[in-house]
Amino acid sequence: MVYDYCVIGGGIVGLATAMKLLELQPGASLLLLEKESGLARHQTGHNSGVIHAGIYYAPGSLKADFCRRGAKATKAFCDKHGIPYLTCGKLLVATNDLELDRMGGLVERAKLNQIEFELMDGAELKRREPNIYGLGGLLLHETGVVDYKRVCESMASEIRDAGAHIEMNVKVTAIRETESSVIVTSSGNEWQAKRLIVCAGLQSDRLAKMAGVQSDLQIVPFRGEYFRLPPSKDKIVQHLIYPIPDPALPFLGVHLTRTSDGGVTVGPNAVLGFAREGYPKYSFNLRDVMEYATFPGFWITIGRNLKSGIKEMRNSMFKSGYLQECRKYCPSLELDDLTPCEAGIRAQAVKKDGTLVHDFLFLETARMLHVCNAPSPAATSAIPIGEMIAKKVVGGRRTSEAKV
Ligand SMILES: Cc1cc2nc3c(=O)[nH]c(=O)nc-3n(C[C@H](O)[C@H](O)[C@H](O)COP(=O)(O)OP(=O)(O)OC[C@H]3O[C@@H](n4cnc5c(N)ncnc54)[C@H](O)[C@@H]3O)c2cc1C
Repeated sequence: MVYDYCVIGGGIVGLATAMKLLELQPGASLLLLEKESGLARHQTGHNSGVIHAGIYYAPGSLKADFCRRGAKATKAFCDKHGIPYLTCGKLLVATNDLELDRMGGLVERAKLNQIEFELMDGAELKRREPNIYGLGGLLLHETGVVDYKRVCESMASEIRDAGAHIEMNVKVTAIRETESSVIVTSSGNEWQAKRLIVCAGLQSDRLAKMAGVQSDLQIVPFRGEYFRLPPSKDKIVQHLIYPIPDPALPFLGVHLTRTSDGGVTVGPNAVLGFAREGYPKYSFNLRDVMEYATFPGFWITIGRNLKSGIKEMRNSMFKSGYLQECRKYCPSLELDDLTPCEAGIRAQAVKKDGTLVHDFLFLETARMLHVCNAPSPAATSAIPIGEMIAKKVVGGRRTSEAKV
């Protein structure tokens, strides 16, 4: 059988893409392949669960557009499927004059990105969040939290209900594109599809290489480590509390996150990982490390970000450093409040010249589309990303068939 579409990857981007393909072309035959025994076992199942509003992103960028539309689409999807989510708002807190100044820049961004916000001074901040210290705050009402694993389960149900197949425990080991189809191989089995979409997250560079797609990208794993606060501190904050980020490194800065199960986590940091899929601390995979250690762009980016890299590493090794970061805005936290919980691992694409790729990145051939970089907020943005991919792929199919 030749499928109309094959999607590799059972994370939220692969699932949203499959769902949107079937919406756009009802009755199409589709096969989704996932190497794990369940869905959302990697980035999607190990994230902060935040439905972002999209304040940080450059106006007009793919990230800004997808995030704004994605937040609405995610909430609508949850409403349709009865998935609980909490729109508790995100409060960015400035603890010194530099951060107050940077907060002014974020206000401009919020206006340009059409995000509703409320500014507060230190006294109002204290009134609204008695356990939080700051000179001022910027509240984004629309930010929420959800369990993205549940979102993925409902996406999978929609895909199956539309007659498509999801196969687990299938690790794709070879991809060959021919003039008329793409052949995907795993453990001696072969599948053929007219179009292939690869959404492989932490393995995206390897699958692109396997398929013969030219790119100068290397995935470098960055661990995001979390702590959970004790149940006695479940009510310590009303909102998600974020520090004001350094605009050069917007993904740094641990935050207090209310979780969809009623708890509060602290994190994530961003520490160089020694294994792409090794979640316990100090996991090590020789192949993963050798690949980035022999990639010139890795050393350039390490050189450029040495100071922050060392600080993140130190705070990862010594809980007291991590605590200090949180105490800047939540002074009542104690060392004993921080119980480690499972880390997440970000797939950070790095170019040969050492540039960190911050926006979404897609590479295409005649019959394939590879999602080569889908960083945060890709969980929030997955539905419009999937829609965009589906339109490209279905549109491409029509164009090429029209040509024939
Ligand atoms: C610590 C952390 C916190 C984050 N917080 C947020 C947040 O709060 N909000 C937000 O919007 N985003 C957040 N993100 C980002 C978001 O989680 C990711 O951008 C998103 O989940 C990416 O989804 P994905 O489907 O591309 O990748 P993944 O979820 O990693 O899925 C890729 C899938 O491909 C499969 N795969 C790989 N290779 C093969 C193969 N050879 N054969 C078959 N299958 C294969 C994998 O097993 C995996 O299931 C966070 C990320 C991290 C790591």
